[in-house]
Amino acid sequence: MFTYFMPTKLIAGENAVIENAQELIIGTKAVIITGSTSGKRSGALGDVTAVLTENSIPYLVYDRIENNPSIECTVEAAKAAREFGADFIIGIGGGSPLDAAKAVAVYTANEPIDGSDFEMMDIYKGSYKNKPLPMVAIPTTAGTGSETTPYSILTLHSIHNKKSFSSPDVFYKTAFLDGRYTVELPLQIARNTAVDAMCHLLEGFTNKRSTPASDYIALEGLRVIGSNLDILRNGNPTVEACTELLWGATLGGMVIAQTGTTIVHSMGYPLTYYKNIPHGMANGLLLGEYIALAHKEMPWKTDLYLEALEMDSIDDIQQLLKEILPCDVKFTEEEISEWTKTTIQSKNVAVCPFDVTRDLEIEIYKKCLL
Ligand code: NAP
Ligand code: FE
Repeated sequence: MFTYFMPTKLIAGENAVIENAQELIIGTKAVIITGSTSGKRSGALGDVTAVLTENSIPYLVYDRIENNPSIECTVEAAKAAREFGADFIIGIGGGSPLDAAKAVAVYTANEPIDGSDFEMMDIYKGSYKNKPLPMVAIPTTAGTGSETTPYSILTLHSIHNKKSFSSPDVFYKTAFLDGRYTVELPLQIARNTAVDAMCHLLEGFTNKRSTPASDYIALEGLRVIGSNLDILRNGNPTVEACTELLWGATLGGMVIAQTGTTIVHSMGYPLTYYKNIPHGMANGLLLGEYIALAHKEMPWKTDLYLEALEMDSIDDIQQLLKEILPCDVKFTEEEISEWTKTTIQSKNVAVCPFDVTRDLEIEIYKKCLL
């Protein structure tokens, strides 16, 4: 038996926002949750505010979402949204603003108060009373697939790591996929984020929780990304190709919404937290070794994903990752040993297709990073 659930409406293509005002406006007062530059640089913020103005919808732009957003930053944004009286949220940006918007939706509807029956950390228990505000998503990177997942990954400085909360209540109502918003992404950000999407597709495909539905979607996502690899190598994409890459990333979100991720992600988080390595690059540094280990358990799946990617061997994938993820950060054995004390406790360990021990995690880190 298996289930498939992903309730977000997808509208893909050029001018998706401008031509679908009725799908964008899902309330009477909007708060726009975005980063300091992504909304403006992508052009998405301009399109959204034009549609809201034309339809006389008051809005507040909250553009102080950090990269790898901290939980405190989402509480702050929710305070602004509550004071403004927002009844719906428009998330614009990469995974950071799109994930943050999900927490903002919860905290706007449920003010976290110390000592009350809903404190800030209770978001992880899902113990809030009021439904989160409804949200729409406009991704400006083609990577995380946050627009189609029930996950929000927040930085918790209290535990020196990132931690996700998950709830079917925080699926976006609608997501708008328009390659105009990613066509001018700096090449290295485009590469990092596309690698994140590849990780979602491959981690989902090799995951113990994979289903016929998630596998079907994963292979299509890998086919879409595989047919656009030149862009990741050389840059200069067309808007059309960018919409395709967005679609590939959204398919990755649809996959992990069913399966979750694996140790590639849980082991990637310390690289981001302690070494400031962007999320997609952090995962990409570990992916090659992970797929080599997964291959031993399920070689027939390797054949299927290599065909989808139009590649001949796992070496080809490892070579591509080396080429597009230049990283000169130095690591030590002490750091690796320290990180694995936490990473081995992640629930992602149990869904890998091979047995994972702390020693194996140390070996993977060493092979990939030293
Ligand atoms: P990001 O942190 O959202 O953005 C990276 C950088 O790209 C930021 O400086 C951002 O600017 C900039 N940027 C975004 N769009 C741009 C555009 N169109 N043009 C120019 N610059 C642009 O990166 P991301 O990789 O998309 O998201 C990573 C986050 O998503 C992590 O926190 C990760 O844990 C999370 N994630 C979530 C899921 C999920 O299922 N929910 C899955 C995987 C990852 P600003 O500073 O202005 O934003
Ligand atoms: Fe990811």
